[in-house]
Amino acid sequence: MYPELKLFIAGEWRTTRRDMAVINPATEQELGRLPCADISDLDDALAAAEQGLRVWSATSPRERCDTILRAAALLRERQEEIAQSITLEHGKPLEQARLEVIRGAEFFEWDAGEAMRTYGRVIPAARGQKFSVHHLPIGVVAAFSPWNFPVSQPARKIGGALASGCSIILKAAEETPAGAVHIARAFVDAGLPAGVLNLVFGNPAEISSHLIPHPAVRLVAFTGSTPVGRHLTTLASENMTSVLMELGGHAPVIVCEDTDVQAAATSGAIRKMRNAGQVCTSPTRFFVHDAIFDEFTETFVAKAAKTVVGNGMDAGVEMGPLANDRRVPALTALVEDAVAKGATLATGGARHGNKGYFFQPTVLVNVPDDARIMQEEPFGPIAVINRVATLDDAIAAANSVPYGLAGYAFTNRADYIDRMIDEVEVGNLSINTLEASMPETPFGGVKSSGYGREGGSEGLDNYMTIKHVWHSAKIV
Ligand code: NAD
Repeated sequence: MYPELKLFIAGEWRTTRRDMAVINPATEQELGRLPCADISDLDDALAAAEQGLRVWSATSPRERCDTILRAAALLRERQEEIAQSITLEHGKPLEQARLEVIRGAEFFEWDAGEAMRTYGRVIPAARGQKFSVHHLPIGVVAAFSPWNFPVSQPARKIGGALASGCSIILKAAEETPAGAVHIARAFVDAGLPAGVLNLVFGNPAEISSHLIPHPAVRLVAFTGSTPVGRHLTTLASENMTSVLMELGGHAPVIVCEDTDVQAAATSGAIRKMRNAGQVCTSPTRFFVHDAIFDEFTETFVAKAAKTVVGNGMDAGVEMGPLANDRRVPALTALVEDAVAKGATLATGGARHGNKGYFFQPTVLVNVPDDARIMQEEPFGPIAVINRVATLDDAIAAANSVPYGLAGYAFTNRADYIDRMIDEVEVGNLSINTLEASMPETPFGGVKSSGYGREGGSEGLDNYMTIKHVWHSAKIV
């Protein structure tokens, strides 16, 4: 069920002398050994990507589109096999893993279509003079994808790069490598030329500090935490290399007094626990109007406490483990800090069981502003529910963090929605739904949540550069 793990460089699968264990977070058992790239592997990947860029940037958009669509179709065909390896390495419920495979395919399908629509423009000029604007592939992309979505996160980066005519070296997450291996297999079978897609694993700091300063690399695309994003951006600045940064979030949810309280609380509790809260758009800070606070909190806590936690392979499980062992003490410390500062722990708050990296669905109520969790993204199954008296207070609280990725609200009042569109500082605002993005909508953050957009008609912008051409019919 779990694939053999290898690096993929210059169209060849390869093993290495060094390797590391990949652990099933639900059982703590070893799933396989992951080869780790050394400097010579990275140099080979750079040389392959330079060659791949020459071939792929000269390939017509139609052919690029067709190749990506063939790979997406193979992911759909192999949905069950891929979903099983996602659940084994990441822990999420199998049904959610199946949906993730389809979402990955949808990202590729969207980007494939966009390959055909990277229009330039003609600017009016004097007779005998022509001004035109061309969108060209930016160059070799060095991409780094995280462990929370083993297929859909690599799909965002690979789709953007390949649709734009770039080649890519992807360092996928060491905790969850099989998703990216399955994607690379699909592209091999779809006929992608050698060197266009290269896949490496290993020591993240060693890999990023070798790849990013290389002059052939023209874009660094990263999804992960803000501190790491800041570090990679600093490395990129040496060569003025572009960056696409999808970083942390700490999503506020403004719950207004006119909403359907039961529906909002139930939806909030379900969505908070999805992927064990390990989602950059996860709804975390609930600011609830005074008039409905008690009913909302009671319903939310009851629903969250009933979440079925267990091995994602088991039927009926709603929430799996955290993806790695370091997250368990990190979340415990956030809860302890909040309680010490005066928050009420309404449910959960600790490790679940004594095998696997499980954490209890957790709700903290009336959390003071000086608690760490009010500023730090928990990236786990922890919700904060705080009382607000007015929309002004709710918007001020929503904006009081350095992050600005997703934000949500439950209300039907047009005047409230109008204010939120103007005033809530996020890249993605959703009203009466806790979904934040689709392949066809632009996704990304403001403030410390990053820079650039993935998906939507903006999704290829970061992967392309703009060239203005001035053609004079005669020498002037
Ligand atoms: P971390 O900060 O150690 O690592 C975050 C990611 O960056 C990982 O995928 C890691 O492999 C990678 N990374 C770390 N150092 C790197 C380096 N020098 N060069 C290249 N890549 C590097 O945190 P973690 O414990 O793995 O995850 C916890 C935090 O990461 C969360 O609090 C969350 O903010 C963030 N995160 C965000 C997303 C997202 O979708 N935005 C996904 C995963 C993790």
